[in-house]
Amino acid sequence: MPTGDTQKKEGRFTCILFPTDFSATAEHALAYALSLAKEYGAQLFLLHVIDESSEASGFYVPHMNYDKLESDMKVAAEKMLKSFCITHLKGVEEYSSDVVAGIPYKEIIAAADKRQADLIVMGSHGRTGIDRLVFGSTTERVLRKSPCPVLTVHPSEETPRSSTT
Ligand code: ATP
Ligand code: MN
Repeated sequence: MPTGDTQKKEGRFTCILFPTDFSATAEHALAYALSLAKEYGAQLFLLHVIDESSEASGFYVPHMNYDKLESDMKVAAEKMLKSFCITHLKGVEEYSSDVVAGIPYKEIIAAADKRQADLIVMGSHGRTGIDRLVFGSTTERVLRKSPCPVLTVHPSEETPRSSTT
């Protein structure tokens, strides 16, 4: 029988990763991330990825200062995430957040690995939100490659009822 930390952690959530694209669907999923974090006393880790999956436009407009643009975007995204946390995480103590640039699903998986997350909570859809597809492309790829369980929340799911108060 295996012993040690890994066995102790099995079936429990100690670090929950919540990736957000600032869409209403992701925001809706946050309620589940929060209630589970509270229930398990887990660390909550919020991640926003500056999406670099589209073709680098420097190819078309080579004279543009892309380094400057990138650092401006990072500053703006960090500001957005910070104010998102202030608005939505009132009273939550155990959380941290980060902004990185890259391909969203890859960065989400990398963050789950790095932080040894034992659960990812995310929206079934995001900013594009095409309803005829079961999942958005980020969620679909995370589901395929995630090192830990993934809870996907559809926009029409009810907000979880709190077990306390
Ligand atoms: P698509 O991007 O395929 O056109 P979509 O935008 O509707 O479709 P997804 O991108 O898969 O759907 O988004 C689903 C969930 O993935 C979001 O609710 C959010 O939790 C997460 N997510 C998507 N993009 C990002 C991102 N850039 N950074 C962090 N999390 C993201
Ligand atoms: Mn998307």
